[in-house]
Amino acid sequence: MNSYAPQDAISEQAETVAHKGHFYGVYLLCSQSLDSRYRGKCYVGFTVNPKRRIRQHNLGCDFGGARKTSRKGPWQMVMIVHGFPNNIVALQFEWAWQQPALSTRLKIYPELKRKLPRETYFDYNFRILSRMLGVGPWNRLPLSVRWLETDYERAFNVPLPNHMEIVSGKVSISASQRKRADDTVAPAAAAWAAECHLCMQPIKQPERSRLGCTNPTCRLTSHMLCLANYLLSDEPGHYIPIGGECPLCETRLSWAALLQHKRLLSGVPEELQDQDEDLSDGPDVDSDVECMPELSD
Ligand SMILES: [Zn+2]
Ligand SMILES: [Zn+2]
Repeated sequence: MNSYAPQDAISEQAETVAHKGHFYGVYLLCSQSLDSRYRGKCYVGFTVNPKRRIRQHNLGCDFGGARKTSRKGPWQMVMIVHGFPNNIVALQFEWAWQQPALSTRLKIYPELKRKLPRETYFDYNFRILSRMLGVGPWNRLPLSVRWLETDYERAFNVPLPNHMEIVSGKVSISASQRKRADDTVAPAAAAWAAECHLCMQPIKQPERSRLGCTNPTCRLTSHMLCLANYLLSDEPGHYIPIGGECPLCETRLSWAALLQHKRLLSGVPEELQDQDEDLSDGPDVDSDVECMPELSD
């Protein structure tokens, strides 16, 4: 191999275009902060548009970045897993990667519960990912593991299922005629407008129509109707759901408890509902879908 890496050639050759509305990715960020408290820390998130998402993380939470990553960067998006059939499957993958100790599918691997003393945050997250790709239901999905930063690129020490591919290079999302209303809103004007994890549309009257999960570590946000429909898909013939599994964290939900939970929360100011935790050890399902409109280029 040449010792001088033709950087430009690499990035040009590899920019892949994915179609808007068909791309669901779960990415890994690594902090390049000069502050030793943050340097090397990692963050797992979900996005439908990686380029927009990394920009948001680096601009901070006023621009749609996660509070957890705000002012702890700059962040590099080092890899992204894509090829999920829909946002729910991708969000489940994100949640398990963030919470290997809680995921029912990963609980059987106690070695994933925590980072080893000498292990870097990146190596720990890579170890969790390597395991996840071999476990059902994810091992049946036609996933692509895409390296976005060549410095981090390394071989998997377990063979991946044959139908998965390992690729490298950036990915951009093609524009679509179907312009979403919130794409046109200026970042400053758009407050923290939550989007539904299930239909990915904004929740216009959150105080009335937003439902979350009863598991405090889960950040599920959805329209009441979308969650009802999701739960009803397991109970054909009913109009009011009894319960079911949370689409994100697999917690067993009861519809009555969800409504009661909502009533309790509606009496509490928003900022007290989800407090910022320390980076890397607190659970956080902060996802692109919660975040803000496209920043103008
Ligand atoms: Zn919805
Ligand atoms: Zn949940």
